[in-house]
Amino acid sequence: MTGLSDIFNRPINYLRVSVTDRCNLRCSYCMPAQGIRLLSHDDILSYEEIATVARVAAEMGINKLRLTGGEPLVRARLADLVAMIAKIETIDDISLTTNGVLLQEYAPELKKAGLKRVNVSLDTLNPDKFQRITHYRNLDEVLQGIKAARDCGLEPVKINVVVMRGVNDDEILDFARLTIKDGWHVRFIELMPFATENPHEGHATRSRADLHPQFMPAKEIMERLHSLGKLESSDTMKGNGPARYYRFPKSTGTVGFITPVSEHFCIHCNRLRLTAEGKLRPCLLSDEEIDLRPALRQGAPSQKIRQLITEAIQTKPRNHHLAQETVAIKRRMSQVGG
Ligand code: SAM
Ligand code: SF4
Repeated sequence: MTGLSDIFNRPINYLRVSVTDRCNLRCSYCMPAQGIRLLSHDDILSYEEIATVARVAAEMGINKLRLTGGEPLVRARLADLVAMIAKIETIDDISLTTNGVLLQEYAPELKKAGLKRVNVSLDTLNPDKFQRITHYRNLDEVLQGIKAARDCGLEPVKINVVVMRGVNDDEILDFARLTIKDGWHVRFIELMPFATENPHEGHATRSRADLHPQFMPAKEIMERLHSLGKLESSDTMKGNGPARYYRFPKSTGTVGFITPVSEHFCIHCNRLRLTAEGKLRPCLLSDEEIDLRPALRQGAPSQKIRQLITEAIQTKPRNHHLAQETVAIKRRMSQVGG
């Protein structure tokens, strides 16, 4: 292993792999209710192709890998892919980001295949609101999925809550109480307010992200939490990403904050993203991409894949500008995995 870094000397050791652009939910901030134009089966990388990329990336220094989507659990036999990646010795952390709807069904086999932990996205504890946000009926399935993941040791289970003013900000304290009462690890995520109405266009913010009426900065979320006690900084949960963690005195759970808008964490960005159709994307919020699929399908030697990965890393921008200006990108979050 050589260790990877970009031209700004940021170490790169984390690959997020989107395994599908399909999803069984339609979260208001991510996908239009009518869905989007989807990739065909032939367009998306096979599990063997994804594993090839993971192997070469691991030889170069990637040691953390997260599976995401769309919704990764709607792709058939995801545990097979987990098992293939788990065989790569130098990858020491395989995780999954999911909406949790199918987690109850798949948690045990994912664990057995080598998955270490999961993040579950859940923005409300209210069944009616869950339906309004996701266009899906059954909140209980997600809650059962969280329980199943905890029961089978896919720990820590982190709950991602995108906070939207006027939509779910009245539940900030309810989520925080679960960190005290039930040991949940809750991460409040600042909304990146992309427009989602047009199914065939990419994402664009209408103006500076922090001016969107639903946007709530982490600082304000944190202030709301003071009524539950003093938050102490906590290092125990530090993952591969940009979240900052705290806990209430004596609680076993933690509260985290992810601040892509108010305090971008680009200086610490350690990641590359692989889209379902094989494009390496150096930055979530830039359309710069390097296509690996032709090389993979032509059976190119691993040296060629290496070269393309290096190229992608070298084009990683210094930072994004969500808080300064309108940002337009061709892909939706569901097409790149968040
Ligand atoms: N379907 C899976 C899920 O929802 O966990 C994985 C893919 S989803 C795109 C990954 C993460 O991106 C989720 O936690 C979701 O809440 C977050 N996300 C999507 N659109 C977002 C936005 N506009 N602002 C902030 N977070 C967003
Ligand atoms: Fe919601 Fe994730 Fe599906 Fe987007 S990809 S609609 S965030 S469940």
